Amino acid sequence: MKENHKSFVTLTAEERRKLVSDSIEQISKDYGNTILSDSSRNEFLVKRMTDLADRTVWAIGQQLACGTFAPDQFEAKFLIDAAQLPQGQRLAMQGKIDRIDICEDEENVYVKIIDYKSGKSDFNLLNTYYGLKIQLIMYMKAAMELEQKRHSGKNVIPAGILYYNMSDPIVELSTGEAADEDTVLYHIREELRMKGVINENKNILKKLDDTDSVSIAVPLAYKKSGDVDERKSRVMDTAHFDMLEDYVLQQSGRTAEQIYNGKVALNPYADGEYHSCKYCAYKEICGFSPDLPGHQFRKLNKMKDPDVWEKIREEITDGKKLD
Ligand code: SF4
Repeated sequence: MKENHKSFVTLTAEERRKLVSDSIEQISKDYGNTILSDSSRNEFLVKRMTDLADRTVWAIGQQLACGTFAPDQFEAKFLIDAAQLPQGQRLAMQGKIDRIDICEDEENVYVKIIDYKSGKSDFNLLNTYYGLKIQLIMYMKAAMELEQKRHSGKNVIPAGILYYNMSDPIVELSTGEAADEDTVLYHIREELRMKGVINENKNILKKLDDTDSVSIAVPLAYKKSGDVDERKSRVMDTAHFDMLEDYVLQQSGRTAEQIYNGKVALNPYADGEYHSCKYCAYKEICGFSPDLPGHQFRKLNKMKDPDVWEKIREEITDGKKLD
């Protein structure tokens, strides 16, 4: 797309399909033309992958067309200095951000990060508080540092941390709805709307999606009065983005310090049906078994978001006092 000066938004359906099938063909060749085309089953898998990739590229174009953000970096590698530990060591974090979109004005660069997922991921404040889902907050810090280097002299402002859950959905129409292509595609866009949280600043919301009703790109909906519909939107202000970043960095530093000091006790958590051992690669050797005496899953206290924010605020303040 870059070579041909095409963007997700300007790509025609024909160009998109050709790029997708060329890419899948290339991957198939990289596998030595065996794994992906040696049986009818694998041919079917290739077809499904092609359909999923085509649907994904289509949806990305539809979502970007709603606002004025554009992709700036793909698979952006980072290495950040995340925290200083008391013994003089430093905690470095490295990773790769699937996509960084930006939008600029004279003074500011707004940054939106997107993580592609094959499951159903969403932002969860409580999980972030417990340190279970800190990836996107860390990515935002890294993306802001990367963009600050590319746009020195401008303010870099967080606009959103978002998950694109990859799928090629089949949608159901309500009774009485017209079964035409436009209606079906609208519902598919709704299904593929990104999850996560975005900056509530009005100017930034307009740049993310210029709608005055319900966004099909980001978690945003307006009431008839023109106010953001809090029940159907997921928004927070820049101060809260900053607070989360401070908190995650502080907690990561503390965790690193504890690991460095030898705290590696078996202490898995359970949340409903899910527990941290479920997909753990070490479960055959670590020796934890909930049937053994003294081996219990840690239960996490449930809290409402305002209480979680209060806790986060307290812990940052305590941490700063300690520093
Ligand atoms: S299987 Fe063992 S190492 Fe893995 S999460 Fe559970 S307790 Fe921890």
